[in-house]
Amino acid sequence: MSPETPSSNGTPRPARFVRPPPPALGADCALFLDIDGTLAEFARVPDAVHIDTEITDALRRLFDDLGGALALITGRAITSADRLFPNLKLPIAGQHGCERRDADGGIHLHSPVKTTQARLRNLLRGLATRHPQLLFEDKGASLALHYRETPQLAAHVHRTLRESLGADEGYELQPGKMLLEVRPEGRDKGTAISDFMAEPPFAGRLPVFVGDDLTDEHGFTAVERLDGWTVKVGPGPTAARFRLADPTAVKHWLQVPMVAEATYAMDPEDEG
Ligand SMILES: [Mg+2]
Repeated sequence: MSPETPSSNGTPRPARFVRPPPPALGADCALFLDIDGTLAEFARVPDAVHIDTEITDALRRLFDDLGGALALITGRAITSADRLFPNLKLPIAGQHGCERRDADGGIHLHSPVKTTQARLRNLLRGLATRHPQLLFEDKGASLALHYRETPQLAAHVHRTLRESLGADEGYELQPGKMLLEVRPEGRDKGTAISDFMAEPPFAGRLPVFVGDDLTDEHGFTAVERLDGWTVKVGPGPTAARFRLADPTAVKHWLQVPMVAEATYAMDPEDEG
């Protein structure tokens, strides 16, 4: 069901959450895409996520049509994301911008504070040992605890990590869908997109970012600042200007024939 349709009891949804679908992409766009919840539905564990071959085909065609200005922006480690797209090697920012592979294949790393990282790794691993339904994911710079299997532990995970993280340790908490992450301060999906936009072939193009989660709001803010297009996937409040219902709607939108130049006339009714 689209988030814009009335809810099951017939009550209209709040107008401030209503967003139109995005227009067709233009050949002058730079496209940035989140992966989980955007290009693919969530799975029980991150490694079980499957990418539809129609998505892979669309990404390959878009990469060519956009002159290479297509990048993945994910919370996953780059190595984990690459496993999902074995025949594509796209520019990508992993771990919320802590690592980035640019259009030339160059790797940029944002190093964490080693002592804090070691302490947090022990803490998260300890929690996952005590509560085996929690999944600990060591991505390198950032660390995550997934509680998809046991949502009743969410409050415990959030409280434990919040209380153990000092203000000046160089790390911050990043809530996501059914997980809590700790990641080095100062990097997020917005800084990752800004880094790409300062380099060819992205520079000078209209940035378009599509994402579904709280972490993507950083990206939406950065792209709105650059007068780009922002697309929220799924329901809920957002800073994004457009909305698509789910990964299937994203796939269909990616398959829409590209126009020469991206155009969009803002309807005042759309502003919320
Ligand atoms: Mg996502």
